[in-house]
Amino acid sequence: MNRRSFAQSMGSAAVLSALAKAPSWAPSSAEAVPGRIMAIAAHPGDGLFTMGAVLARHIERGGAGVLLSLSLGERGAPKTIPVQQYGELQRTATQKAAHLLGAEAILFTYPDAAIPFNDESALRVCDAIRDQKPDLVVTHWRGSWHKDHQNCHRIVRDAIFYAALDTLVRSQPAHAVSQLFYAENWEDSTDFLPDTFVNIEPVYEKWLQACDFYPMWRGQTGFFRYNDYYSSLAVMRGCLSGSKYAVALMSDANQRAQHLQSL
Ligand SMILES: [Zn+2]
Repeated sequence: MNRRSFAQSMGSAAVLSALAKAPSWAPSSAEAVPGRIMAIAAHPGDGLFTMGAVLARHIERGGAGVLLSLSLGERGAPKTIPVQQYGELQRTATQKAAHLLGAEAILFTYPDAAIPFNDESALRVCDAIRDQKPDLVVTHWRGSWHKDHQNCHRIVRDAIFYAALDTLVRSQPAHAVSQLFYAENWEDSTDFLPDTFVNIEPVYEKWLQACDFYPMWRGQTGFFRYNDYYSSLAVMRGCLSGSKYAVALMSDANQRAQHLQSL
């Protein structure tokens, strides 16, 4: 297989996957009515840098989007800014970024570096899911070195299970999430195998502007070059999926079924 046919096969796999699951943001399902997408991240930066472009693309196609961050990411503060003050900077940045993308922002304040995985946190996210009624959820992949990211993954999986349970009585009625995807994150790369590509070319510049509200994106809080990494990743994923810029997602194993129309 040469490089061109490899790239085309990657694109075909994404299209087949999209047809099988009919995600409302997929370029092959333009006739579909876009639904509601919910990004659930441990920290605001994860939400914008790894899930924000998918949110923006979905909204650009006429859908609705909400970003839930479980913490303010306050412990990523540089030494020159007190932790609490940095948390408020993160809150303001997230509100501005979400507004620019046309998304709603919900910020929980579990302590950064100590987001708990228990029934309280899972039921709180369950309640947010029942309130927002998303068709799609995007969150962290479990293969992360970061304990908050690992816990977010587990919290969201339990929350989706609880949200769909009719016999679990909460303030809102049960809601079943149709699709669950995991975002590509430099900190969650162990065993991450992307199988779904989203063309983000129409929203690429707007997404970069939204990320730029965060000092972390500009390299002002630590060593990692977030801007260079995620903007380049979009180019690389675009090369593999036949578009200028793309985001790669990993679908949950339980929904990874494809249907060939000719068989
Ligand atoms: Zn994080």
